[in-house]
Amino acid sequence: MRKKIVAGNWKMNLEYSEGISLFSEIVNMVRDEKKGDQTVVICSPFIHLNSLAQLGNGVVKIGAQNCHQNESGAYTGEISAKMIKSTGSEYVLVGHSERRQYFAESDELLASKTVIALQHNLVPIFCIGETLDERNNGSYYHVLETQLENGVFGLSAEDFGKVILAYEPVWAIGTGLTASPEQAQDIHAFIRAKIDAKYGMSVADDTTILYGGSCNPKNAAELFAQHDIDGGLIGGASLKSRDFVDIVKTFN
Ligand code: 13P
Repeated sequence: MRKKIVAGNWKMNLEYSEGISLFSEIVNMVRDEKKGDQTVVICSPFIHLNSLAQLGNGVVKIGAQNCHQNESGAYTGEISAKMIKSTGSEYVLVGHSERRQYFAESDELLASKTVIALQHNLVPIFCIGETLDERNNGSYYHVLETQLENGVFGLSAEDFGKVILAYEPVWAIGTGLTASPEQAQDIHAFIRAKIDAKYGMSVADDTTILYGGSCNPKNAAELFAQHDIDGGLIGGASLKSRDFVDIVKTFN
């Protein structure tokens, strides 16, 4: 079922106590101000997950920003999907462009992370997006299609139906340059058409596709009003409770 979702991605920010206070503010404001049926998620650093899952109390759901592709074992410093699930978290980001870029995560690796997340009943938020060069040289449709094909189109229709997609153009992340509503809608419609071709129309219709990249309280309403945009993945603005909850209220 296609959902409306606003998900924050805190990235590598906030000490433990800072995360707890920001999250408490967000939960209180969401409880008081959210009117619609939109789902609110915060993807925090690992250190916060367990505490946030308790504080969130179902009002705000919790996700991690990454997981390891294997079940368990001698992978010093890594965190498994099963461990994330055990904190009370329900979501995990897979394939954020910063993971692809700085940690050389390939589509194939991300496909295995998606599979293990699903095995542990975590909802993968699978991110795709083109770089500025790819946008400028016109290869972006091909790039996005390849990321989809190698990353998630190996899943059964049943498993694919549990995945949330996020389109995050790399050139719009943290730059203040947002994709225009028309540019974002064009790509979201393209993604939905690819899902239709692979899994059929009812799966495509039911897939939640989020937009991410310099989304803020000023531009969110116009972006989320587009037919194929089902919400947002919010970086910088999720570190300010007022801004984040104003984005959530776009769906009220
Ligand atoms: P910004 O909202 O800071 O551009 O970040 C977007 C993002 O990367 C969310 O995952």
